[in-house]
Amino acid sequence: MLDKFLKHIAQTSDAPMGLEISHAEGPYLFTTDNKRFVDFISGIAVSSLGHRHPKVIQAIHEQVDKHLHVMVYGEFVQKPQVDFAELLTSNLPEKLNQVYFVNSGTEATEGALKLAKKFTGRSKLIGFKNSYHGDTHGSLSVTGRDVYRDPYLPLLPDVHFLDFNSDEGLDLIDDKTAAVIMEPIQGEGGIIPARKEWLKKVRTKCDEAGALLIFDEIQSGFGRTGNLFAFEEYQVVPDILCLAKAMAGGMPMGAFVSSLEIFQTFKYDPPLNHVTTFGGHPVSAAAAFANLRELLSGNYLQRAKEIEKLIKQTLTGKGIVEVRGKGAMLGLQLESWDLTKKVVEDCFENGILLGWTLHSNTLIRLAPPLIIEDELLEEVLHIILSAVQKHA
Ligand code: PMP
Repeated sequence: MLDKFLKHIAQTSDAPMGLEISHAEGPYLFTTDNKRFVDFISGIAVSSLGHRHPKVIQAIHEQVDKHLHVMVYGEFVQKPQVDFAELLTSNLPEKLNQVYFVNSGTEATEGALKLAKKFTGRSKLIGFKNSYHGDTHGSLSVTGRDVYRDPYLPLLPDVHFLDFNSDEGLDLIDDKTAAVIMEPIQGEGGIIPARKEWLKKVRTKCDEAGALLIFDEIQSGFGRTGNLFAFEEYQVVPDILCLAKAMAGGMPMGAFVSSLEIFQTFKYDPPLNHVTTFGGHPVSAAAAFANLRELLSGNYLQRAKEIEKLIKQTLTGKGIVEVRGKGAMLGLQLESWDLTKKVVEDCFENGILLGWTLHSNTLIRLAPPLIIEDELLEEVLHIILSAVQKHA
């Protein structure tokens, strides 16, 4: 099978992990050669309720028995979309009251940028160094890492990158600025939370300039940080919120959420100016509704905070430079690339799947599912610690 995979599946690197998956359940992945791995990155922050959560699976089955795709986004009334949008917006600040469904994270970013440009009638965009917003052209235009951007230049014009968490350059947010886009906790940049006072300052600058503030919570959303969304802890509300990844419990789905007033702009000049065929697919929407209901009714947000506490307590010091992040969105900063690589490899040999973030090669990403129990968590942390001690 690996041969055929390499032959027919277009590759994105010379070194794919190449695990041949047989099935996945809860916190575990199982391979065709009968190995079991603890998925300690949740498919990169997707399966937050574990793989194949029963409530999600049931909702998928029920929807499959009713209908699959019936019409492009926004034309027909489809119950799973309406149910989910109602539940989602009732758990968001009042002004975030309309949902535009898409299929992925990068498509959410694209939609958000277009919405901000159309609403403000401006084109200047501000992003942050080491950010990541997706890999299509618009998203890449606001992603703050040259090595990924350079091969595709020219990208969108009039995009400016500022240092994350720094006041320097904030005056660039002016009356020509359509939007400032940021992750409240940078994910691929190395799990770096924004400073509270700084985020408030950015919000004020946007208000003064009439620019929209876009939060990309594609990675940090849906309970991962111990709140439903990371921005809740900052008491700063964005004008547009981008979502995807953990949204639909393992099904593909994205969305950007904003106000009725801002979304009016998508209806005119011309109408249908942001069409997506599969956006809000009914099966994904049914899965998202079941996923969110479960997330809100269970103990998951509290659990994310407990996971953070246990991991920080167990791993801080002990050969690790820093354990940072919030909830179950954490990073282990190590001293060198060599050590990082060895620890990840060692853990892999011991059945623990860890990973890197895109913009850092000395940071190990930890994003366990929120269903993980203490016993398994402690077992994993013990293996990580032993690997660090062995190679330090
Ligand atoms: N924004 C952030 C913060 C992300 O972490 C990601 C995915 N890593 C994206 C956008 C892009 O999402 P997708 O891969 O679904 O396009």
